[in-house]
Amino acid sequence: MIVVPLGIASATPTAIRHLPAVALWREGSVYLFDCGENAQMRMLQAGLKRSKIDSIFISHFDVDHYSGLMGLISTLQLQRRDRELNIVGPKGIKEYVEWNLNFSGVTLSFDVNFVEVEEDIEEQRVIDGEDFYVEARPLKHKRFCLGFRFQEKDKPGKVDAEKAQALGITEDDQFKELKAGNTITLEDGTTVESYEIVGHPRPGDSFAYISDTEYCPNSVKLAMNTNILYHEATFSNQLADKARETGHSTAADAARVATEAQTKLLVLGHFSARYTNLHVLLKEARDGFYPTWLANELRPIFTDPTHERGIVEVKVELKDLTKPDQSNHRGGGGGRGRSHGRDNRGGGGNRNFRSRKPRGRDDRGGGGGYRSRGGGGGRYDNNRGGGYDNNRGDRYSGGRSDYNRGDRNDRGNSGDRRYSSGGGNKYYTRNNDDQGKEEMPKRSISPRTSYDDFDRF
Ligand SMILES: [Zn+2]
Repeated sequence: MIVVPLGIASATPTAIRHLPAVALWREGSVYLFDCGENAQMRMLQAGLKRSKIDSIFISHFDVDHYSGLMGLISTLQLQRRDRELNIVGPKGIKEYVEWNLNFSGVTLSFDVNFVEVEEDIEEQRVIDGEDFYVEARPLKHKRFCLGFRFQEKDKPGKVDAEKAQALGITEDDQFKELKAGNTITLEDGTTVESYEIVGHPRPGDSFAYISDTEYCPNSVKLAMNTNILYHEATFSNQLADKARETGHSTAADAARVATEAQTKLLVLGHFSARYTNLHVLLKEARDGFYPTWLANELRPIFTDPTHERGIVEVKVELKDLTKPDQSNHRGGGGGRGRSHGRDNRGGGGNRNFRSRKPRGRDDRGGGGGYRSRGGGGGRYDNNRGGGYDNNRGDRYSGGRSDYNRGDRNDRGNSGDRRYSSGGGNKYYTRNNDDQGKEEMPKRSISPRTSYDDFDRF
């Protein structure tokens, strides 16, 4: 599951923070928690398709938490949605939506399944899907407000395929029975118990959304052992009184809930507009519960962090300096360009001289220089050092010296050509590719923000 904060402001939006809304993506469907103004735009910007919304959960009727609902419904109508939509909220949500539709004379093209929660509940399972459910509990705010927990049901354990094959289990039906926990009888009369083939059930992912509340036990119950707890942190400790007065939490309150619930990751949101530097809140929360992040609008958070790999691109490579082999060729840090130059020359002296003047030549050489010297070791070094570094220089901060080298090389272009006609085409081409001037167009230039990839989900 992926959590995407769409709006992290409280009450009033700021220039960079939008009204409350958090999207949860799971298996191609989107579950929206609160729907502040602009939520539908933020979805678009986050690359979340509005047509994929399965359910909308409204925590309470402070306007900032539902002001985007009618606009979003209108968009779904214009998109000619035909799938049913679940709208969950405190009692009155149905009246609100229907009144608005009547007022505008709109008849929806799709069915809406309203789930209204009465004020006197202790807890209620508001959605019960095939492989997940959503539970709601009342929180402690100035008006009736709901917190939600999205819980995947446990997944069946993994099947030991080798063991199954050895026992002669081949039919899909047999696997199905075993996965369901049943015992099967094979053709030769032997019985196979489920536990012989199927491992322990794997716990499902979980997410809790708790906004607009003082500290209360129900928050802890909702957040118990969750992968991600999204909790409001409207104020810092300094304004703890104001938090009590208005039925809100401080960052420390959020940390308290996270600690008591033993959640894996606490994400803070719903920030008062007075905080331009949110790190005050982060610090206070981390004093109580270290695994805390500040919600960042449109920045996806994975319930399983290992899934982030490949989606969030690594910008910096950490080098293992304990490996002498690497540091030899790639240099370790500042003196990189120079040590590299030395490699090219097969470890010769005249370091100062070389590092300045013949840089271009070395490069051209990709090795013209040492080639003429004809050293076998030299060629190897150059190939490795030069080729490798040139190829990657642009991507790693440490590659700057190579970048510069490429640039110089560019200026001394005629030299390159000469070299190239000499048969070193391979090096020439590669160097050429990597020259600073030609690096830039390789990256697609786009006015979009990094998270504004429309087909991502
Ligand atoms: Zn609020």
